[in-house]
Amino acid sequence: MFLSVGVRFEANVEALNMVETAGNYSKHRRVPYLVEEDGKLKTVYVPALSGESLAHAYQEHLVREALSMNLPVCDDCKRNEFFKSMNKVHLKKKIDPIPDDPKKIEEAIVKACVIEDVGGFLYAEKPPVRRSSAFQVSYALPVKSVALFATSEPQLHARHAQIDVSSKKGNVSEQMIYYVETGTALYGFTFNLDLDAIGVSAITSKPILDESEIKARREAALKALFRMLSSSQFGAKLSRFFPVGGITELVVAVTEHPFVVTSPIYDNYIARTEKRLAVLKEFGEEYFFTVASEDKVPEEALKEAIDYLKEKGAF
Ligand SMILES: [Zn+2]
Repeated sequence: MFLSVGVRFEANVEALNMVETAGNYSKHRRVPYLVEEDGKLKTVYVPALSGESLAHAYQEHLVREALSMNLPVCDDCKRNEFFKSMNKVHLKKKIDPIPDDPKKIEEAIVKACVIEDVGGFLYAEKPPVRRSSAFQVSYALPVKSVALFATSEPQLHARHAQIDVSSKKGNVSEQMIYYVETGTALYGFTFNLDLDAIGVSAITSKPILDESEIKARREAALKALFRMLSSSQFGAKLSRFFPVGGITELVVAVTEHPFVVTSPIYDNYIARTEKRLAVLKEFGEEYFFTVASEDKVPEEALKEAIDYLKEKGAF
């Protein structure tokens, strides 16, 4: 089964995704964006969060959930360092001696680590072995209709020290002024999870693990998503720039086969997703769809989707 989530969240004064520091100035990620103004398309630069940043956060939550369920996570992933089984040095920790057969390599990695099972890996040696991630995540970008109001502005911060000449206290390194570019926007992003890919070989399409282990891993993958969205623990600089705001809207679709909700950057994304699902139904495909907005909190909507998956025997 396939789960697709569209999230809209408001973030005022966030520093969730910084890209470079020049001297005492750290820059927020910014991307070119097409918007329509007076019937004409134009490009503006808007603050954004990369899919890599969101994917990293998701995998951190997955580590926690997997460990709490006593599922295997390799030592590298346990430290939230997700270079994964990229070469012989890292693969050797999972299987030694390293086999020549790509199927055996994939099997060893999937068995040893939930994160690499769900999040994929690229073993760049001979033979190369690649496993696509079972989850996908977009960039978080400002909602189109209000993208022109999205801003990234530097904020000045100062660190003071008392000057004391005799002890050289208050020297240059103790005193500091610095700027952090903060973003303010109504963001939208999409998260997809292909539950059928978990524990299944990307090479042969056959299960690598037994049914109960696959179900447990699916459950961990769903819980990690729930926790990430519920806790707002994603992105950088949360310790001093925890975004002011929160999820304003969220939609979840669960389908038998891959289906992705219409991007929440569009104002009509809920209606369009519903219309598209209705067509799917005409082809005989069952689905579940729910929306969190004013009356329903995001946690309720996510739980309903998870309950539906449980009812359908996904875990
Ligand atoms: Zn791992």
